[in-house]
This record gives sequence, C-alpha cells and structure tokens, in this order.
Amino acid sequence: MEPPYKKMTGRETPDLETEVTSIEVISQRINVDANITDATRKGHICRCLGPCGKQLLKRRPSKGLCPHCGSYCASATFASKAQAEELAHKSWTVMNSNLHADAVRELGLMPMNLGHALESDLRKMARGRNDERQRRHLYAHRHIIGRPGLANGDLKTRASLRKALGRGATVPRFRRTPERTSPGVMGKLIEAELEFRAGRRQMRGLSMRPRTLRYVHPVLGPSRGPITVEIDGEYHNLPVELKTVSTFEALENNPLSLRGMVRQLSGQAIAGNVDQGILIIAERDGNRLTAMRIGGLRAYHLRNVTRWMAELDIAHQMTEMTRKGVINDVEL
Ligand SMILES: [Zn+2]
Repeated sequence: MEPPYKKMTGRETPDLETEVTSIEVISQRINVDANITDATRKGHICRCLGPCGKQLLKRRPSKGLCPHCGSYCASATFASKAQAEELAHKSWTVMNSNLHADAVRELGLMPMNLGHALESDLRKMARGRNDERQRRHLYAHRHIIGRPGLANGDLKTRASLRKALGRGATVPRFRRTPERTSPGVMGKLIEAELEFRAGRRQMRGLSMRPRTLRYVHPVLGPSRGPITVEIDGEYHNLPVELKTVSTFEALENNPLSLRGMVRQLSGQAIAGNVDQGILIIAERDGNRLTAMRIGGLRAYHLRNVTRWMAELDIAHQMTEMTRKGVINDVEL
C-alpha cells in the first residue's frame, strides 16, 4: 500500500530574495511605520468596508467607523514577538497526499498533476527565513460578519445559502477580537507569512497576493446581486486557496472540513471563469504542507447550487401550502 503522505522531491532552486519585489508586498499589506514593540497588542491597520479598503490610521476608528468615509472599519491584531520569530523560522515539508486526492475523487472531482514549476514554488515558499525582525506583515484583521450582499461563503452549503437568501439588509458586525494564539488568528498569520515569502522570492507562477472578485452567479442570476469572492492567490489564472489545519490527521478525521474547502475553491473557480483551482493545506501544529490542483470545479459548483435552489424552492412551496392550510394532516 502506498504511504498516505510522501515528500515531494525535486531539484532545489536558488533562493533569490530581492528587495524589488518586497516593496510590492509591503504596499499590498500596508507599511506600518510605527515601531511594533511586544507591548503593541493592536495596530491601527484597518480594513474599511467602504472605498478605502486596507489603510493605516493614526488612531483606532471610533465605534468601528472609518474616519474618512464613515463605513465600517475592522482593526487588526499583530503577532507577538515570539510568534513572529516562530513564524519566520517555520519551514514546512511539501508533501504529496494520496488521502486528500482520494477524498477529492469521491466528491466527483479530478485531482491533477501540480507540475514541476508549482512544486518548486511551493518548496520555495515553505522555506523559513532568518530575518525574523521583519514582522510588519504579521497581522490579522478582525472577522466581519453580516456584510451586505452574497459572499462565496454563503454558497458552501444548502443551509448557508438558505440563510443568506432570507436575510434582508444587514449591518456589518465585528467578532470580538480573538486571542492571538487562536487557530483563526494563527491561520491568518501563517497566510500573511506565506504571502510575504512568496512576494519576495523568485516564483515561477505562484502569487499569494489576495484579491477580491465580484461576479453574477449563473444560477442565482443578476437579481441576487454580485457575489463577493476573496481569493488568497493565483497560479497563472487559477484561484489559489490556502487553508491551515492543526494536523493532516485532524483533517482526515473531519471529511466535511475538506469538502468545505473544495466548495470554497469551486466558488472561486466560477468567479474566475475557470474550471480548476489550487488548494494549499498547511499544518499549524506540524510542519507539513500539501497542495492539490483540482479539476471539474465548475460543474461541481453548478450542480450543488442548482440542486440546493431546487430543494429550497420545494421546501418554500411546502411551507407556503402548510401555512395556507391547504395540506392538513398529511405526512410530508
Ligand atoms: Zn473608509
């Protein structure tokens, strides 16, 4: 029997870190001039939901509102000095995963070859760095819930879709600032670290620069408004989603979690008008990283949403009929 995880081997390529590309990354994640000391629990890097986007503010936004446009504005949590050092030094071993590929096949999707260029990019990104004092990029924004309009996360399950279609105008809210060591924040910090490395190393096609896409859904139509989709990066024109898990074994014990990741990727593929996507999974409590190139995402996504809409429509009609008293004492 084949081992579930096998190290991806390949030619090592020189690690060229250039200052030129690092400027790009910093402008993307916003330069924080202030000296970040260990005592600085939160910076004033904020993410405005209005036109300002990510920005650096002199003081915390009052009542969570952007001082420039009045929209909601989420503040960020910085990595501690110890966390920043650990993240800078952290190296992952890039693995092939037969188990994940089997799980993807079971969903009716096609695991595909990554190709040498992508494997080499992954190994480059997985390698730690020695300049641990570079840590201005290591922050995580507070999570915003109830953003207006439909987002990719609303298309992950039938239940989430039903909830999203039923909600009226919403007021965005912020989750309470989570602990710096919580899995959610750690995941975001790992994302930030990998983005930073990918941005200043000579990559052959992989970019970990996050982007927001908006598109009209082919099944839901224009009346539902554009769907907002965030992607973590791109490989040529394919969406890249980076997920962190505690360990691969923990993920194996939770098949729904992998399915959720694949569904998220399928929504990103639709938004980008492509059929494939790249899912990268990195361990938070271990040192393994794997990636899958998955094909057949378009049909998979459309099949799911079409089925859920049909089921929700039927459920809706049933409720209506019951309410009107047309159906009495009938076992449904
Ligand atoms: Zn603003």
